[in-house]
Amino acid sequence: MKNENITTIELTFVNAFLVRVHDGFILIDTGLAMHWEKLEKELMSADCLPDKLKLVIVTHGDLDHVGNCAKLQEKYKCKIAMHKDDSLMVENGLLLKRKARSLTAKVFSIIRRLFRRKFTFDKFKPDVYLSEGQNLNEYGFNAKVLHIPGHTKGSIGILTDDGNLFAGDTFTNKRKPEIANYIENHLELENSINRLKKMNIKMIYPGHGKPFEMEQLARKL
Ligand SMILES: [Zn+2]
Repeated sequence: MKNENITTIELTFVNAFLVRVHDGFILIDTGLAMHWEKLEKELMSADCLPDKLKLVIVTHGDLDHVGNCAKLQEKYKCKIAMHKDDSLMVENGLLLKRKARSLTAKVFSIIRRLFRRKFTFDKFKPDVYLSEGQNLNEYGFNAKVLHIPGHTKGSIGILTDDGNLFAGDTFTNKRKPEIANYIENHLELENSINRLKKMNIKMIYPGHGKPFEMEQLARKL
């Protein structure tokens, strides 16, 4: 996959990625509900009409990644795919308890609590459940699913055949490349990172911040 086939859609502080695949597009993550107009504009300017959107994949169930799934199902009639272990978060709006690793993360948790109403989303039922090792060729996407729990139980990464990893919030690059700021399960996150370290990953596309080379991070892990 050439990098020009990947468009980063910056939605204030969270990323969505539009990937051009054979005969259409895959959208990875969808931003907050309040980002709908910007997201739709970006889809349109890429000529991603409803029949061209083959699949929407969400890397995990957090509301800043799933905010527009219900709208996409309704307006684009597209399928939403995610790991089953996060489905209660999107079907029932279940909120996870998580540890914030840094001061900024702690402050953000407080802001999020204060602005709860602004940060809501329409609940939805996923159409497809993705699991470890699953191949995405049937959607024209030369990539596979990695189940990498830790940030959330159902966090997944999407690894393209040529080493691009869409990592959700398992990694972040707000100021510098690093591992998740919010953690549901430390041990699981550690195991996931150790697994990823052994894989042939070149670029990481995080949920927050700019893409970076795995090498930049590998030295610190
Ligand atoms: Zn998250």
